[in-house]
Amino acid sequence: MEMELRPPGFAYRQGTLCCEQAPLARLAEAHGTPLYVYSAASLRARYEAFEDAFRRVPHTVCYSVKANSNLGILRLLGKLGCGYDIVSGGELQRVLTVDRRAGARVVYSGVGKTADELDAALRANILLFNVESESELAALARRATALKRRARVALRVNPDVAADTHPYISTGLHEHKFGVPLAEARRLYTQMKREPRLEPAGVSAHIGSQIMEPAPFCAAVTRLAELARELRSEGMDIRYLDAGGGLGIPYQMQPEAADFRNHVSAYARAIVAALRGAKLHLLLEPGRAIVGPAGVLVTRVVYAKRNDGKSFLVVDAGMNDLIRPALYAAHHEILPLSLDAAAPANRQISYDVVGPICESGDFFARGREMPEMPEGGLLAIMDAGAYGMSLASNYNTRPRPAELLVTGRTVREIRKRESFQDLVRLER
Ligand code: PLP
Repeated sequence: MEMELRPPGFAYRQGTLCCEQAPLARLAEAHGTPLYVYSAASLRARYEAFEDAFRRVPHTVCYSVKANSNLGILRLLGKLGCGYDIVSGGELQRVLTVDRRAGARVVYSGVGKTADELDAALRANILLFNVESESELAALARRATALKRRARVALRVNPDVAADTHPYISTGLHEHKFGVPLAEARRLYTQMKREPRLEPAGVSAHIGSQIMEPAPFCAAVTRLAELARELRSEGMDIRYLDAGGGLGIPYQMQPEAADFRNHVSAYARAIVAALRGAKLHLLLEPGRAIVGPAGVLVTRVVYAKRNDGKSFLVVDAGMNDLIRPALYAAHHEILPLSLDAAAPANRQISYDVVGPICESGDFFARGREMPEMPEGGLLAIMDAGAYGMSLASNYNTRPRPAELLVTGRTVREIRKRESFQDLVRLER
């Protein structure tokens, strides 16, 4: 019996949850838990869904490195032709590590770029600096002059568009720290004309993350396209429109993957309509939509316990490994790796699934109906590919998990499990 969950990445085959052709339980036995497992086929399919949806307009998909910055994943996407959206000097180094010529496909956002980071990006001759303030613009002009380099610049404007998402990941309103207001942007573009080392080349925005509806993207891109037209009429050679990232994914276990292509197509239609034929090269910065459903976090039940009639599964993964439920009250589906090992009589129990960390916020689910699980049983926390490992920490002196990349039956360890020695290496 086959049950597709997140095709082409994850499915039950004969009652066993598999990543492509590899049973997750076998990977857990061989590599230990907690363990991140990613599907190469899923990463490819999701990237290609973007390529396909935007094929009618000139575009570059710049994968948002912060969502998952493992070199193995960056390399896989880079080989497909993907560009990169970075927010730090460290992310730039990662991207240049997988491809030393990747600079031509890099866009750089972030409100606090330091002089050292600007220098590194100037030396890599990146495609576009998304500048977020007047002070940053001045700093970039100083560094470009000192290094005798030219910088292609977009201002990240704040289009004042509300997006229906968690307040911590909404970024497009005037009260947020990101970008500059439209009126201010016009003034700064004019100012830029006086800087010989700065080339106004684009307009950009990023309105937030985990946005499911196309309408806010359409509103933001409409404003960006208008600004681009205005600036061109003033003689500026604006070629790029960076629409940011933010396309959401359904974290509930609905048959999402089947219609992921439709989801991306609806998003693409909204954006392309907003461009209204403007001759601009579109840049897109998806993170979560590419890597989220391509990864799971595998964890083992350490103890099953009851407190005053409440049932807990204490698992060996914690909020240090996957912080989204603790930080955003985010929902992740949690599935047994073996349908047989779970509940011989298929008894459903309402569980709190919690980690071992000394914080009440250390939970993955509360009051979740699941098949009864034995101690030692294995679970997969689904859709953990984005903002999972990249936000992981060593809190409670917990080494971070290993990461595996599966292609068909082939399994590659793309990051080793940390050891205690790794954790204390820099301490005296
Ligand atoms: N671009 C920028 C500037 C961002 O800040 C982010 C996320 O915070 C992204 C792209 C990626 O967003 P998402 O993973 O929701 O696509």
